[in-house]
Amino acid sequence: MAIVTLTTVPRYDSDRISERKGRAVVVGAGMAGLLAARVLADGFEDVTVLDRDSLADEATPRRGVPQGRHPHALLEAGRATLEDLFPGYGEDLVSAGGVVVDFASDVNFYDEGDFLAHGPFRMETYSASRPLFEQIVRQHVAGLDGVRIRPDCQVADYRFDGARRSVDGVAVQENGERTEIPADLVVDATGRTSRTPTWLSDHGYAPPPVDEVHIDLSYSTTYVERPASDRRTYLVPPSSPRTRGGMAAPVEGDRWVVNLQGVHGTDPPTGFEEFTEYAASLPTPTLKRLLDDRPNRSETVEHYPFPSNRRHRYESLDRFPDGLVVVGDAVASFNPVYAQGISVAALEALVLHRTLATGRRGNLALRFFDRAEDVVDVAWMLAVGSDFGFPQTTGPKPRGTDLAARYLSRLTRRAHTDGELADAFVRVLSMERPPTSLFRPGVLWRVFGPPN
Ligand SMILES: Cc1cc2nc3c(=O)[nH]c(=O)nc-3n(C[C@H](O)[C@H](O)[C@H](O)COP(=O)(O)OP(=O)(O)OC[C@H]3O[C@@H](n4cnc5c(N)ncnc54)[C@H](O)[C@@H]3O)c2cc1C
Repeated sequence: MAIVTLTTVPRYDSDRISERKGRAVVVGAGMAGLLAARVLADGFEDVTVLDRDSLADEATPRRGVPQGRHPHALLEAGRATLEDLFPGYGEDLVSAGGVVVDFASDVNFYDEGDFLAHGPFRMETYSASRPLFEQIVRQHVAGLDGVRIRPDCQVADYRFDGARRSVDGVAVQENGERTEIPADLVVDATGRTSRTPTWLSDHGYAPPPVDEVHIDLSYSTTYVERPASDRRTYLVPPSSPRTRGGMAAPVEGDRWVVNLQGVHGTDPPTGFEEFTEYAASLPTPTLKRLLDDRPNRSETVEHYPFPSNRRHRYESLDRFPDGLVVVGDAVASFNPVYAQGISVAALEALVLHRTLATGRRGNLALRFFDRAEDVVDVAWMLAVGSDFGFPQTTGPKPRGTDLAARYLSRLTRRAHTDGELADAFVRVLSMERPPTSLFRPGVLWRVFGPPN
């Protein structure tokens, strides 16, 4: 199995694509769709991004992205790729109120009974709400030559050529009318509720096999006031046998987003009083203290159920129409506690860039899926590998999960007092380095040798 993370993916280089021709249509202006549009703009004369939502100018949650009301952490693989694809992204985000946090000093990560030691090296990322992350990407994409974003435009089906070998456009519902938009390439970035499997079946293709690992997760989220200079971040993910977890992170508007999590039938509450009581039941009092000490900045506690990690195995299909590619959550969505979705979408955009850079357009989808599989594999292994720590988790268990879990449990406990080990661990969780980096001799020595 090839492993693709930030350090192993070929990085973005616009000079690799010399010719722009044809039209690409991207369905979905979420993070995955916008990232795909960025790399397509190098190879297509016209890139049209369609979204069923109105896409307001402000960074506010919207209907088509209901998860946008909940915290979104940006891992290193996503941060570095966003900076490469959109020079000045971080500055723009910070100008709009986003916050720079350093994993080695601002982030307090509770796992295996204690907080991890702070690492010796700075590891900065951005902290903001999901709507703000997306709005700044959208501004950059809208400014690209040849790219148009069309809101209020719902895609209702794919259009096929006469022989049904290729998708050659989309059927859309816009201003109450059904019309068609022709395209040389259609990219499905419609998220977890993607209709591609159904539309493939409708047009005589087999839908992809699906892997599903059930965790029965729920999120409850609210916001409290934050002193502008306070960047403390707390991560207390559920960890067997504890089915409760939570987190707090600084976001724009001098707020902390405070989020509670429950898995396998444990449901975090939506009333303010119960929310604080639930926070008090976590193994560290920090979230409860934030809720007690800081004025509330939200009228509601938002709730979100997330039943399962889900992965569509497009790479295993023998027959797939030309002219169609699927990206982001439409391919795979992961337990959000591990914050991988944007980073996976970003690495997939780099894979799409590399696939286009070969100069060949034929069989693009299967060539893309083959490489994107290696990105999804890493995120999947880390997410479901951790989720199988709960005996209640059901679904196909990747080989080697239990052994890896035992090793990581020991590594994590050592990392309570060993900042270098904590650093190595976090760089894997953030999809910067491959998991194999945790089996290097220097790391093994820190895990099994005499304690520091
Ligand atoms: C509760 C929760 C918390 C999360 N936290 C994190 C985190 O901390 N860090 C992280 O990296 N990831 C996180 N994720 C995952 C992250 O939200 C996604 O992985 C990431 O944003 C990529 O999503 P996407 O663009 O593929 O799909 P989406 O964000 O779902 O976007 C799909 C878009 O397609 C549009 N659309 C859908 N159907 C149609 C149609 N027929 N026609 C036109 N438009 C259509 C929608 O309006 C929407 O704009 C979280 C997910 C959840 C559920």
